[in-house]
Amino acid sequence: MPTPIARIALDLPLPRLFDYLAGEAGPRDLGRRVVVPFGRRQVVGILVGLAEASELPAESLKPITALDRALPPLPADWLRLARFAADYYQHPLGATLHALLPPALKRPKLPRPAGPAAYALTPAGEAHVAGLGPRATARRRLVERLRAGPLPAGEAGPWRAILRDWLGQGHVAAIESGPPPPPEAAAAPALTPAQAAALQALTQAPPGYAAWLLFGVTGSGKTEVYLRLIASVLAAGGQALVLVPEIHLTPQTEAAFRRRFPAARLVSLHSGLADGERLAGWRDCLAGRADLVLGTRLAVFTPLERLRLIVVDEEHDASYKQQEGLRYSARDVAVWRARELGIPVLLGSATPSLESWRNALGHRYRLLTLPERAHALAALPAVRLVDTRTDRPRQGMSRALAEAIEARLARGEQSLVFINRRGYAPTLYCNGCGYVVPCPRCSAHQVLHRAAGGYQLRCHHCGLAARPPEACPDCGSPDLRPAGQGTQRLEESLAERFPAARVLRIDRDTAGRRGAFAAMREAVQGREVDILVGTQIVAKGHDFPHLTLVGVLGADQALLSPDFRATERLFAQLMQVAGRAGRAEHPGEVLVQTAYPAHPLYRALERHDYALFAGQTLRERREADFPPYSHQALLRAEAAGMEAALDFLERARRAGLALAEGVELFDPTPALMARVARRERAQLLVQSRSRGRLQAFLRGWIEAVRALPARGVKWSVDVDPVDF
Ligand code: ADP
Ligand code: ZN
Ligand code: ZN
Repeated sequence: MPTPIARIALDLPLPRLFDYLAGEAGPRDLGRRVVVPFGRRQVVGILVGLAEASELPAESLKPITALDRALPPLPADWLRLARFAADYYQHPLGATLHALLPPALKRPKLPRPAGPAAYALTPAGEAHVAGLGPRATARRRLVERLRAGPLPAGEAGPWRAILRDWLGQGHVAAIESGPPPPPEAAAAPALTPAQAAALQALTQAPPGYAAWLLFGVTGSGKTEVYLRLIASVLAAGGQALVLVPEIHLTPQTEAAFRRRFPAARLVSLHSGLADGERLAGWRDCLAGRADLVLGTRLAVFTPLERLRLIVVDEEHDASYKQQEGLRYSARDVAVWRARELGIPVLLGSATPSLESWRNALGHRYRLLTLPERAHALAALPAVRLVDTRTDRPRQGMSRALAEAIEARLARGEQSLVFINRRGYAPTLYCNGCGYVVPCPRCSAHQVLHRAAGGYQLRCHHCGLAARPPEACPDCGSPDLRPAGQGTQRLEESLAERFPAARVLRIDRDTAGRRGAFAAMREAVQGREVDILVGTQIVAKGHDFPHLTLVGVLGADQALLSPDFRATERLFAQLMQVAGRAGRAEHPGEVLVQTAYPAHPLYRALERHDYALFAGQTLRERREADFPPYSHQALLRAEAAGMEAALDFLERARRAGLALAEGVELFDPTPALMARVARRERAQLLVQSRSRGRLQAFLRGWIEAVRALPARGVKWSVDVDPVDF
């Protein structure tokens, strides 16, 4: 009898599996974590296959060191999902699997589980307790308590023994993660007619896969549609997965979901969690102990065997695209996963990605529209364009905007000044000769920041920080000046101009620490702030009921960008930031400072007309053969010198020419950011009208690229890139 061989996926940049002697591992161990010797180390792998024989001589194979049976095996549908991601994004399977596991599982030694955080009644438990006699008082009281929602371990004292029994019998389930739930369910509001119509379409659709695009203006109550649909999934014993873009948004969304489903076992998964928390939540999912998973992009890969619904909120958001390693789009993976499982996926946005919008227009996605704000009194804000050629800004601010802020201050309302540049000023320049201080390591200017000890120049690409020079390095003039506006400088000038106002800045520099963001949100909601200055961080999904004015600075920047997606992003951002104004009973106003008030983008914005903007932009994309009318992949290379990077890509291009059928290979070019941290970066674009053809090409091509000598060159492939 041949020795059974275990095929193990290891976390290596090689598209192959590794053979070990299976020992006691059998078919029921497929998908389990193992520890195996690799070189001199012991490393974690996943058992993905068993074979009768290996291509290697049996005596050279080593046995598996340990098989982790403490954890359920990764389910087959999850392994299929990981395989799809590996194939589609051209990433080695082993590296893919490891990218999807919680970090704690990548270490050979498993941390000891902390013990359950709470207990919940299972359906089996419900059936069991229905038959309890009248004298089982303690048990009855426990049941009553459990029916009100999961019982935190800290309150379980009097019932310890019963719980231990019931755990063994499956009447209760242990919840390993998550804070204790609130005691009472929040009531659902009566649906608006548009919400009701959307929900009816969703619930009356035949079972099976369908992709829905919920296109609803900001404040139209998309969340309520999600909640209702999730309620029906949970009632039927299914699991729901909800993706949200930013970790800043999860606490808020999480609280809303917990209030609504106090009895549900909710697991929240995002990068702000400590390793242990993340592991506990993930284990709950793997063991079937979660009903509702709320998370950021990586959560799309959570193992969930009873998954019946996926929701992707703000589906257009750029944070759904992973930019490192396995470069996946969580939205696209969500759609693939839903199709594979035969379940619905609901994509929501006020400004859908043009990909999704086109799919909706072409009836591949079903379109649901919420055209108005849910709150009867909250109209959409009036958008006004301020022409900066006639109303010239002083310290960044036009007179119209300054007056509008003044009026808000007089009425005790809040204003938000939005600018997508953190720091004090984008550059430091010499008034003598025009010299602008560059980063010595990158093809970018250094950004002037206000720091504790004075000013500092920082590079936003490589992180280099330095003291500003005393005099111009070029002409020696001491007359160096900050040019342009950043959040810090605006904060300063607003405080000068409105000395009585309380100004708060929210950007990555102030909101970076955990909890800092929540504190700021509370300060705004508690009216401890009059003027907010912020970057896109504030634009997203926050409810500030007393905010009635939004001023937008520096938006024109994006119109000049060489990235063809810049206008799409700008429009989404402006619609979103405009949506912060006038959420409650106070009407809102948005002032956009621009030197191009006639630009079609601003015209569409003035009318809150996403469809108009999307129509215009799709026409341009079609003419240029850009996505979504074509499918792209980018081969990136970086090296110490540009020549080496370009040369590698040129060889890659030649290797691809013979394989390219219905696929266009462009010439290698330096990247838009050609130099970062002293590394030169180049890229090669491939493009096809057909996704299938592009995929077929990539399979052969990337294999060929792997075989190319690449001394000193680091390369990667990005399928469906969004950043150039
Ligand atoms: P969106 O996600 O579409 O921007 P939200 O889901 O945040 O909108 O809803 C905006 C506001 O409207 C929230 O305060 C929400 O509680 C409220 N809301 C939603 N649906 C209703 C409804 N049917 N009746 C009253 N208020 C509602
Ligand atoms: Zn100079
Ligand atoms: Zn730099």
